[in-house]
Amino acid sequence: MQWDNWRLLTLLSLAGFAGLIFGQMMAFLFLAALGYAIWLQLNWIKLKHWLEKPKKRRSPSADGMIDDVCRQIEHMRQQNSNRKKKLTGYLKRFQMATAALPDAIVVLGEFGQVDWANQAARQLLGVRWPRDNNVRINNLIRDPAFQQLLEDPHRQGESITVKSPLDEAMQLELKLVNYMGAGRLLIARDMTHTIKLQRMRRDFVANVSHELKTPLTVLRGYLEAFTDDTDSSQWRTALPAMRQQSERMHLMIKDLLVLSQLETGEKALRRIPTDVGKLLQSIIDDAHTLEHYRDHQITLEMDTEKWLVCDVDEIRSAVSNLVFNAVKYTPAGCAVTLSWRLLDEGARLAVADEGEGIAEHHLERLTERFYRVDKGRSNDAGGTGLGLAIVKHVLQRHGAQLHISSELGKGSCFSCDFPATIVVEKISV
Ligand code: ADP
Repeated sequence: MQWDNWRLLTLLSLAGFAGLIFGQMMAFLFLAALGYAIWLQLNWIKLKHWLEKPKKRRSPSADGMIDDVCRQIEHMRQQNSNRKKKLTGYLKRFQMATAALPDAIVVLGEFGQVDWANQAARQLLGVRWPRDNNVRINNLIRDPAFQQLLEDPHRQGESITVKSPLDEAMQLELKLVNYMGAGRLLIARDMTHTIKLQRMRRDFVANVSHELKTPLTVLRGYLEAFTDDTDSSQWRTALPAMRQQSERMHLMIKDLLVLSQLETGEKALRRIPTDVGKLLQSIIDDAHTLEHYRDHQITLEMDTEKWLVCDVDEIRSAVSNLVFNAVKYTPAGCAVTLSWRLLDEGARLAVADEGEGIAEHHLERLTERFYRVDKGRSNDAGGTGLGLAIVKHVLQRHGAQLHISSELGKGSCFSCDFPATIVVEKISV
C-alpha cells in the first residue's frame, strides 16, 4: 500500500478514536478528511507553481504521491536537458562544418525566403546571414536563368551556370534541391577556374586542328600527285600507305573541328521541321554506297509520321554515324534496322544491328573521344574514334539523349530519345 494511503488511514483512525472518546465520531472523521483534502490541495498548488517556474522555485517536499510526481518530472527534465545539450552540440558541429565548406549553402523557406546561409554564401552570392534573414532570394540573385530555375519545381537538382551577383568575372554553378518538406537548399560553387580550363582545352584543340589542316592539305596533294606519277616499285607500295594515313589524319582533324564547333556553340542551331522518314531513307541510300557495305539488310520501321524540329545537317551527320558504324562493325549480310517510334514523352530514333555486339564494360565509355573497342578494327574501317562523341554532342544540343544497349553475340542498339517539345505533326505540302 502507498505511503499516502497509510497516512490517510492513520489520520482517520486517530480521528475515529478521538471521536469515540468525545462521542462525536462523524464530526471528527469529517474534520480529519477535510484537513487532509486541504493539505493535498495546497501541495498540488505548490506543484503547479513549481511546474510553471521550475528553476526559480524549489519542488514541493511532500512525501508520497506528490513527491513521486516531482521526482519523475525532475528525471524527465534532466533527460531533456541532456538531449538538448547533445542536439546543440550536433547543431554547432553542423554549422561549423557548413561554415567551413567552400560551397555556398542557403536554406530557403517555402516562399523562397532566406532561412539560413553559410559563410561562403556571403563571398559567392552576397547573401549575408543573419542580415538577409527572410529576404526573398530572387531579390538577392536577379539572374533570369536563376529566376526560371526557382519558379520551375520540375527542375530541382538541375545545375545552371550564372555570373556571381558580386563579381561579373566569377562563374557560379547553382543547384536547387528539395529540403525538409516545402523548403529548398540552394548550393552554389565557384566554377570560374574549371570553366577557364575547359575553354582553354577547347580552344587548344580547335587551334591545333586548324593549324594542322593546311600543312596536311598540302601533303595530301603532293602524295596524290606522286602516287599517280611514280614508276619506282618501292614507292608504289609506300605512297598509297602514306596517302591512306594522311587521309585518316584529315578525317580526324575534320571530326575534331566539328566537335569543337559543337562544344563551343560557335555554330547556331538551325531548327527546321524535318520529315524523319525521308531523312532516314536518304541515309540508307548513302549507306549502300559505303566501302564497307556488303549486302547488309537495312530496313526502316516507322510507327509514326511525326516530324522532328531539328538542325537537319547535324541530325543527318549523327544518324549517318550510327548507321555507318552498324555497317562497318557487322559482318556481310547482317540485318540493320532503323526505327522511328513515339514514346510516352517524345519520340525515339534507333539504329539496331544484329552484329557481334559490344561487351558491357565498354558501353559507358563508348562516347568518349578516341575510345574504341578494337583499335585495329576501327583503323581498318577508317574510323576516327570521334563518331559517337559527335553523336552525343549533337543530341545534347537538341535536348535529346543517347542510350546504348548491346549484347555480345546478339547485336547493338543505339537509341536517340527526343523530347516531346520538338516532335511535331507532319507538315503536308
Ligand atoms: P569509330 O570512328 O572508331 O567508329 P565511334 O566513336 O563511331 O568511332 O565508335 C567508337 C567505337 O564503338 C568503335 O571503334 C567500335 O569499336 C564501337 N562501335 C560503334 N558502333 C558499333 C556497332 N554498331 N557495333 C559494334 N561496335 C560498335
